[in-house]
Amino acid sequence: MTTLETLKRYFGYDNFRSGQETLIDNILTGKDVLGVMPTGAGKSVCFQIPALMMNGITIIISPLISLMKDQVNALTQSGIPAAFINSSLNGWQIATVLQNAQNGAYKLIYVAPERLLTSDFLHFAQSAKISMLSVDEAHCISQWGQDFRPSYSKIPEFVARLPKRPVLSAFTATATSKVREDIAALLELKEPVILITGFDRKNLYYEVQKPKDKYAALAAFLSDKKERSGIIYCSTRTMVEETCEKLKADGYNSLRYHAGLSDKERHNNQDDFLYDRAQIMVATNAFGMGIDKSNVSFVVHYNMPKDMESYYQEAGRAGRDGGPADCILLYSGQDVRTNLWLIENSKEVEYPDEETEELLKERDRKRLREMTFYCATNDCLRGYILKYFGENPPNHCGNCSSCNTNFETADITVDAQKILSCVARMRERYGIKMLADVLRGSKSEKVLRLGLDKLSTYGISEKSEKQLREIINHLILTGYLLKTDDEYPVIKLGKNADEILRNGGTVQMKLSKEKQRQEVADKKFVARPVDGKLFTALRELRLAIASEQNVPAFVVFPDSALIDMCVKLPATKEEFLKVSGVGQVKLERYGERFLEVISPYRN
Ligand code: ADP
Ligand code: ZN
Repeated sequence: MTTLETLKRYFGYDNFRSGQETLIDNILTGKDVLGVMPTGAGKSVCFQIPALMMNGITIIISPLISLMKDQVNALTQSGIPAAFINSSLNGWQIATVLQNAQNGAYKLIYVAPERLLTSDFLHFAQSAKISMLSVDEAHCISQWGQDFRPSYSKIPEFVARLPKRPVLSAFTATATSKVREDIAALLELKEPVILITGFDRKNLYYEVQKPKDKYAALAAFLSDKKERSGIIYCSTRTMVEETCEKLKADGYNSLRYHAGLSDKERHNNQDDFLYDRAQIMVATNAFGMGIDKSNVSFVVHYNMPKDMESYYQEAGRAGRDGGPADCILLYSGQDVRTNLWLIENSKEVEYPDEETEELLKERDRKRLREMTFYCATNDCLRGYILKYFGENPPNHCGNCSSCNTNFETADITVDAQKILSCVARMRERYGIKMLADVLRGSKSEKVLRLGLDKLSTYGISEKSEKQLREIINHLILTGYLLKTDDEYPVIKLGKNADEILRNGGTVQMKLSKEKQRQEVADKKFVARPVDGKLFTALRELRLAIASEQNVPAFVVFPDSALIDMCVKLPATKEEFLKVSGVGQVKLERYGERFLEVISPYRN
């Protein structure tokens, strides 16, 4: 079977996403790899497919229990034999899993880093055939990353104790170049193939608000999100409690999550959210690491987080299924003061000495400043984020609150043609004001006296004076026009003028926007023209199957698969297999039941 056939057969997808194939192919030729891909890009497939194709067992090191359970659930659903070992199992259960593994029952075993050097696991690993060791959330090995885990540093020792060194593959979503170097060095990767796909998550919409009343802003945002699942992050436990109570009083099905609750309540609340029994999770940043829920369609930050790394990671929990999702940050000046206080007084970190302490605190203050700039900027928010992570994005994305309120990209070729020919007709003798007056057909005394109303370019523009000025300035900056350096500057044709006047060149620019935001907001909701009733019916069936199997709904099928069913309206099993997200095993398990629900909606 080829890699692509494996992808279709087990995961039901027709094409690889950017970066996946390169990583998989390199692993299969025995190379170490490091994949840096944003959340939701599909990192799991990059080690799961080689794991299936290689001869032997793949060990996956993963920092979080909930994440392991979800992944093993999802693999089992797709017919892939997998298991996990962590502190949620008792000694007897662990022994059973290892025994089964010894007998070749699994292709993949997820394990917490703390387990690696325990005698029973080591014994197992030394006597089994380990084809690959995969390190998920690999940034945890670096002190420069935001979730440093000392137990990750035991990995090289574990590898050294295996009779044969397996292929090593490491994956992370958040890695500055420093962290990337750390990962490769500390994991002792051998000449790794490093693949970094863009950090951009195009389906996420970014917005910053500075509301006087945060709760009112939150309520306004939620008012059209009745069915949608989302997370609201607050900086303190008290804030979590308060906000959650208010939301409940307003009729929202919301739950709370923070370190002050009992293990039991946290566990239950997390499950209820995961299994779609509750719509909104109000939480501190204790919630989320390892939350793989794919249908989170908004993340609201009720307070500004401490740095861009945290923000991007937390906001990135929205829209993992690739559907449109909102990341809203509600900012106030108090957030800065709270964070500064936390840097000075946090008990969470123990510093080895004073010098290190001052160094790290200064680093945190710097990160906080950069986070604050994000809340204050008028520039494109996505651009700001991507630049922060070392990319070189265009300065306008069109899917953030800055772009939508402040700019509009426009093709101004026709305007440029009008302006340039008007300059020529006016014999390059007048300034900006007069140029704009003539273009707009002004009846001013001066225009009439000079006979400029007789020019063929008189009154040919419908633009406002403000916009005309912006365009003229842009044309000056780009060399299509030239402004003389005199006391009364005059506009002349620039060195590039012929490109537009004779050579058919085009010009684009970002114009400040005159339209209302509302229109943009509306556009997002027509993106999915599917039968709403069928979609609801499919969701109900999915929920029923999920509770029979005792797994979260998105493990059965992601929303994107249900939407594709609504679009393709399959009638036969062959057609059902063409739906994105439907692989062989899911076809056999669920095909008939879904086809039955779809059948009345055909024709
Ligand atoms: P990550 O670990 O990078 O955050 P996941 O591995 O959880 O992302 O994948 C995110 C989602 O994308 C999952 O629902 C997964 O099934 C889906 N996915 C992965 N690869 C593909 C692909 N080639 N085509 C379509 N969907 C994919
Ligand atoms: Zn933008």
